[in-house]
Amino acid sequence: MKEYDIVIIGSGVGLSVLQKVLEKKMTCAFIEKSKFGGTCLTKGCIPSKILVHPADLIREAEHARKIGLTYSLPILDWDALSKRMWSKIDKSKEIEESVDEIDGIDVFKGTAEFTGPYSMRVLLEDNNYSEEFKGRTFVIAAGGRSFIPPVEGLEDIGYLDAEAFFGSGFPGKPWDRLVIVGGGAIGSEFAHVFSAFGTKVTIVEMQPHLVSTEEEEISLLLENNFRSHGIDVLTNCKALQASRQGDSKTVTVQNIKTGKTETILCDEILIASGIRSNTDLLKIEKTNIQTDKKGWIITDAHMQTSQKDVWALGDINGKYQFRHKANYEAQICAHNLFGGNPTEQSADYTKVPWAIFTFPQIAHVGLTEAEVRSKGGRYLVGTKSFSSVAKGYAMGYDDGDPDDGFVKLIADENMRILGAHIAGPHAAILIQSLVYLMNTGFTCKIEYDAAHKPKQICNDGGTYVPMNQSMVIHPALSEVVAWVTNGMHWANE
Ligand SMILES: Cc1cc2nc3c(=O)[nH]c(=O)nc-3n(C[C@H](O)[C@H](O)[C@H](O)COP(=O)(O)OP(=O)(O)OC[C@H]3O[C@@H](n4cnc5c(N)ncnc54)[C@H](O)[C@@H]3O)c2cc1C
Repeated sequence: MKEYDIVIIGSGVGLSVLQKVLEKKMTCAFIEKSKFGGTCLTKGCIPSKILVHPADLIREAEHARKIGLTYSLPILDWDALSKRMWSKIDKSKEIEESVDEIDGIDVFKGTAEFTGPYSMRVLLEDNNYSEEFKGRTFVIAAGGRSFIPPVEGLEDIGYLDAEAFFGSGFPGKPWDRLVIVGGGAIGSEFAHVFSAFGTKVTIVEMQPHLVSTEEEEISLLLENNFRSHGIDVLTNCKALQASRQGDSKTVTVQNIKTGKTETILCDEILIASGIRSNTDLLKIEKTNIQTDKKGWIITDAHMQTSQKDVWALGDINGKYQFRHKANYEAQICAHNLFGGNPTEQSADYTKVPWAIFTFPQIAHVGLTEAEVRSKGGRYLVGTKSFSSVAKGYAMGYDDGDPDDGFVKLIADENMRILGAHIAGPHAAILIQSLVYLMNTGFTCKIEYDAAHKPKQICNDGGTYVPMNQSMVIHPALSEVVAWVTNGMHWANE
């Protein structure tokens, strides 16, 4: 049986590890069952944002009326927009060709499955199995796929998930009526996109609020904003049944608090109810790799699994399923795997930022206030609205406006940032300065020069003080983040 130095499964973040393998001139098997480039490029972050940006522009143009500027109604050129989107997704073919051309690695196109702890085979595209092979080291970057909730009749009448939407189910034009099942990040992004494009959107969420990972006040702002743009927001509601009615589809939902049901007529149903692990496809049970009860691979901070010489990273480890988190893990994994010391670098998940590209845009880093409160002890909190800074007012946000966004900052008693939350224009950009500040807390080895002077000094930082003490360009939106620090007060005092 052929034995490779390393086997890599998955061409999303797996590709980043492959680059290191090439430098090391190792023998390698590289396996991908679908489009090269993974979810982010072919059915996730990138194509979705190509749709989000025009949707943002439509909503901003509408908002401009408030500042005395009226645009004529936007004309959506769906074909042009789709063409731009597909041209990005199709980069996948170039990636595939470039991987095919690399000497010294064997590329398998199909679904990898373990046959033993260190052996596998691949169900190839022609439905035949490859020869079995062994690996001395495995890097599992096989991600996840959409979770489909058990809704009676759904499989019979058909539906779309992210994979189908960015594939054979991509619509020829925006639907007239769309039901989205799932009010998390992906569902809320799709709701924003299609409602801005003129679709009557209903979004169904089982939790009491949309985007339940966020501060409650951010969820409320989003829900109000959605409603004011004509989106039907059904929270505390569960999709029970789907059926056909003539050319339409129907979804029956039940309010889990009141028991009341209602049936919504639509042209399409988009499922955005979370993601499930791909470990079942890998037949992980043939190995000694431990998974949690949802099937995500358990990894330590060094990206190692419970089985020696098997590493896992990205969505498949179940932690913060974002592409930038996967990239961060890839650096750590590659360093530990190829640097001679498998535990030299560790991942720190306390400062993972993310954004939800809905309307308003939402950004998050660190803990929510509820999480901080549950830990006990005193903490500082402050909020600042966009309308309270000159640029926010210039952009059309007045005090008390229902769509006025805000920054919320939470810090410990030493002013160390514990969490930050933003809803409003450019939230994803604005939060980044706080992420950098949080990360100034790293300690590092101090090296001395010949005169015994330290070459490098690492501050024990992490507080918001540098932001409070810096000059901030006026009038820019960055003031809303900077000046939240002036109003920090003890929570509940
Ligand atoms: C609609 C949508 C929008 C998103 N937007 C954002 C965003 O704005 N920002 C952000 O950070 N994240 C976003 N994400 C999440 C992001 O796409 C993922 O976190 C990221 O792609 C994970 O990378 P990965 O390499 O771990 O997994 P993937 O990119 O999913 O790669 C795994 C690869 O493994 C392959 N594979 C799986 N099983 C096997 C097998 N047995 N054999 C061979 N190959 C296999 C799969 O085909 C896939 O190509 C979004 C996701 C979706 C669905």
